[in-house]
Amino acid sequence: MAEISKTEKVQLHVPTLEELCSVLQAGLKDNFAEAQVSVVDCPDLTKQPFQFPVKGLCGKPRITDVGGVPYLVPLVQKDKEYNMNTVSKEVELPGAFILGAAAAPFRIAGMNAELMPLVLTEAEGRPAVNSSYFSSINPADGQCLQERFSDKFSGCDFGLLGNLYACEGKPGKPREFSVCPLDTNDKVNNWLQHFEVSAPLICQSVLVSRDPGLDLRVEHTHCFSHHGEGGHYYIDTTPDSVEYLGYFMPAEFVYRIDRPKETHVIGRD
Ligand code: ZN
Repeated sequence: MAEISKTEKVQLHVPTLEELCSVLQAGLKDNFAEAQVSVVDCPDLTKQPFQFPVKGLCGKPRITDVGGVPYLVPLVQKDKEYNMNTVSKEVELPGAFILGAAAAPFRIAGMNAELMPLVLTEAEGRPAVNSSYFSSINPADGQCLQERFSDKFSGCDFGLLGNLYACEGKPGKPREFSVCPLDTNDKVNNWLQHFEVSAPLICQSVLVSRDPGLDLRVEHTHCFSHHGEGGHYYIDTTPDSVEYLGYFMPAEFVYRIDRPKETHVIGRD
């Protein structure tokens, strides 16, 4: 891991799941023809279609914003590299299960690629389990190519930036609701390549309702599939027929790791 600045920590207000339900139900009604929000037990995430290395999303929930877009644009800083095991210690939860949206480590992958982290970090007497996916542009046909990280690389490193959710991976009650499609800004679209991909997709969203002054990326979603497609979620291309099913847990803390000293708001969609 490159030398990083001090990690900042902010305690978040955690409303009851019932209160969240009523707020989200009202908000989603403005954006979707149908929306149903309820408090339910988390499904067994070790089963299809998830196949995560843990059963649930519960137990000491917290989020972290690592690095940031300013390390990618206007010019990439290839030495910016982080490690999931180190991050688990920075967020004071060694051995945590971590998911979210990040960038693949350039030094290892040798290219710019989206990372869909799914990592049970190392703990005493247990090695890390890296079930992450990554997606890149296939040089053979210019299309999106999704692969298992562990099929090609070893370790738990990532690069540049990450918006991550960490917990103990226990079963329990996250909340269930239809998620809003995102808005986009087009400032870096000339550089990015977009693909229309097919459902079903398993998305890993990390979002905050308000930045408490940490220069956070307030929403970041990466997705993977079992049909070879995955990457960064931008927009919904089929608003008339799309359906979302989401399981979310309110975080108790947010940790800001290696916050860029020089920042901007380009490319955060
Ligand atoms: Zn992304």
